Amino acid sequence: MPATPAWPPDSTPRLFVETPLAPDVRVTLDGPQAHYLLSVMRVKDGDPVRLFDDASGEWLARAEAVRKRDLILAVTERLREREAVPDLWLCIAPTKKGRIDWTIEKACELGVDRILPVVTRRTVVDRLNLDRLRAHAIEAAEQCGRTALPALAEPVKLAHLLRDWPEGRTLFFADETGGVPATAAMRDHAGPGAILIGPEGGFDAEERAAIRAHPHAVGIALGPRILRAETAAAAAVALWMAAAGDW
Ligand code: SAM
Repeated sequence: MPATPAWPPDSTPRLFVETPLAPDVRVTLDGPQAHYLLSVMRVKDGDPVRLFDDASGEWLARAEAVRKRDLILAVTERLREREAVPDLWLCIAPTKKGRIDWTIEKACELGVDRILPVVTRRTVVDRLNLDRLRAHAIEAAEQCGRTALPALAEPVKLAHLLRDWPEGRTLFFADETGGVPATAAMRDHAGPGAILIGPEGGFDAEERAAIRAHPHAVGIALGPRILRAETAAAAAVALWMAAAGDW
């Protein structure tokens, strides 16, 4: 007896929408999202589309009133609940446009819950376009199947991040000058975690001392080579996900 094919098929387009989703809700799409569905995915009347809203999980919707540049999606049923996101923050000194975009995309795919841009003395980026970074996170979530977007915080100065650090959350400080091997440190410090990555020019001596003096900070080493900030971020998050996350 051939197995019944899964519905909706894996090829079904998947979009994030701001509209709170529920049965019978209708979402009108125009602009880039409509272009993607109509011109790229060739969606026709009655075709399925998966939607998520970062709050209520993933829903099945059907295309209706399809026109050249817009369409309506009629929500029918919930396919799955919003997932439980591993409790990991990524605190990162913003790097140049393109590189920070890549970092946001990888942090989303890898399962990070919250991303905090941290301003340090050697941070080269003075203005961060959070809307652009959020768009990268949304695109990554649509592609990788997340139903929960990573939260993207406003940039914060390193001194304020340390001052306001929450009780009960370990701050794994990626320190290329020496630290505990990351996997051992992450295994020994279960529970809510955060990874701190410095800028292209690294932390200065005073910053490094302030971080190391923090009661919740644990210096971690990511091997014998100097990694680019975005490489260090992806590597450290992957190690945490394997040691204490949902991998
Ligand atoms: N001090 C570095 C240098 O000599 O070029 C510059 C900083 S590195 C490009 C950017 C950040 O990645 C560092 O601040 C650190 O947080 C992290 N990082 C890079 N390599 C690392 C390693 N082997 N172990 C731990 N962290 C590392």
